[in-house]
Amino acid sequence: MLPCRRLDLAIGRLGEQRLETIWRESELLAALRDRDRLRGRCGRCPYRWVCGGCRALARARAGDPLAEDPGCPWRGLSLARLARGARRSLAQLRTWSHAP
Ligand code: SF4
Repeated sequence: MLPCRRLDLAIGRLGEQRLETIWRESELLAALRDRDRLRGRCGRCPYRWVCGGCRALARARAGDPLAEDPGCPWRGLSLARLARGARRSLAQLRTWSHAP
């Protein structure tokens, strides 16, 4: 079984193992779920917990599924600018959540 049809790293044997077991015991899935383990630009990005980048593209380009996503749609922007955008989005969400 693969975590994604484009990510060529086996995580378990569906049919022999329960999906729940694979989900809980796969080291790779644990690493992919923990966005603080991402590397490069994705690892420092303020959007890593909502985006996280494409792990299959990272694997294809760098050989490492935790590497930065070379197809980041925001790669032309600095991380500082992304952080300013993230703070504005969060402030807007807070405003909406307190709206009557
Ligand atoms: S793909 Fe881009 S926006 Fe998404 S986490 Fe990586 S650096 Fe951030």
